[in-house]
Amino acid sequence: TEKYDNALEKSRTTFGDRLNALFANFRTVDEDFFDDLEETLIGADVGFDTAVKITDELRDEVKLRNVKDPQAVAKVIVQKLVDLYGEQGVNEDNSLHYAEKGPSVFLFIGVNGAGKTTTIGKLANRLHKQGKSVMLVAADTFRAGAIQQLQVWGKRDDVPVVAGPEGGDPAAVVYDGVRRAIDEDVDVLIVDTAGRLQNKVNLMNELAKIKRVIQKELPEQPSEVLLVVDGTTGQNALSQAKEFNQTAEMTGLVLTKLDGSGKGGIVLAVRNELHVPVKLVGLGEGIDDLADFDSTKFVYGLFK
Ligand code: GDP
Repeated sequence: TEKYDNALEKSRTTFGDRLNALFANFRTVDEDFFDDLEETLIGADVGFDTAVKITDELRDEVKLRNVKDPQAVAKVIVQKLVDLYGEQGVNEDNSLHYAEKGPSVFLFIGVNGAGKTTTIGKLANRLHKQGKSVMLVAADTFRAGAIQQLQVWGKRDDVPVVAGPEGGDPAAVVYDGVRRAIDEDVDVLIVDTAGRLQNKVNLMNELAKIKRVIQKELPEQPSEVLLVVDGTTGQNALSQAKEFNQTAEMTGLVLTKLDGSGKGGIVLAVRNELHVPVKLVGLGEGIDDLADFDSTKFVYGLFK
C-alpha cells in the first residue's frame, strides 16, 4: 500500500490536486464548473469519451440530488470513480491464470521501451520467491542488447534463460524454451518478444508463429498474453493497446511507469475502451516495484 501511495504521488499532485483546486475555486456548481471538470479529466488522460461520460453523469446526478456545494460534488465524483474502477474489479478477473497441468506460458508483447523485459524480470522474481520454477525465453532477437538484458535479469532472479543468436528466428527460440520447460517440468515459462509496431504485418505473423509453436506442444497455452504499455505516454498508450489488440488476443494489460506519470487516468481509459483487465502495474525500476492492480487502492491513492 505504501508503495502504491508513493508511486501515485505524481498522479495525485497533477490529477487529484487539480480536482481539489477546482472544487475549492468554485462557489457554485454551474456550467463553467462542469467545463473545467471535463478539461481536468481529459488532462489526466482518462480519455475524451470517458471524461465526457463522467461529466454528463455527474451533471445529471447533481441536478437530481440538487447539490449546490462544490465540496459535496467532490464527494460524488470520487465515489463515481471508485464505482467505475470498482465495477471492473467485481466484473472481471485480474488475476494471472495458470495451466491446470504442465507448464504455463506467459507471452509478453509491447513496443520497445514499454518495460517488457523489466516487468518479466520483476515477475520472475516474484514467482520464484513463491516457490514456482520459472524459465525465461529471450525471443526478442531483434533489439540489440535485449537478449543480454534478459540474461542479466535471469541471473538476478536465479532462473534459467533460453536464448538463441541475435537476429535469429524468435519462433525457434520459443520452441527450444517450450521443449526445455516440458522436459524440466517448469511451472511458468515467460516469453519476451520483439515489439516493432512499425511493421504490423511482420509483427502479426511473428506472434502468430510463436503461438503456433507453443500450441504444438502445449495446446492450451499461452495462458496469458500480456500487453505491456508505458503509462507515461498517455493517450498514445491507448492507441497502441488498440492496435495490439487487433493482432494478438491479449488476456491482460501491464501498465508500467505509473511512478513517473501524472496521468494515472490512463488506467480508466484503457479499461473503458478496451475491456481488457489491467493485471499488473509497474511502480518503479526496482525488482520489487511490481504490484497487482487494485482498483480501490488506485482511486483512493489519487485523491488522498
Ligand atoms: P522493453 O523494451 O519493453 O523490454 O523495455 P525495458 O524493460 O527495457 O524498459 C525500458 C526502460 O523503462 C528501462 O530503463 C526500465 O528500467 C524502465 N522501466 C520499466 N518499468 C518501469 C516502471 O514501472 N517504472 C519506471 N520508473 N521505469 C520503468
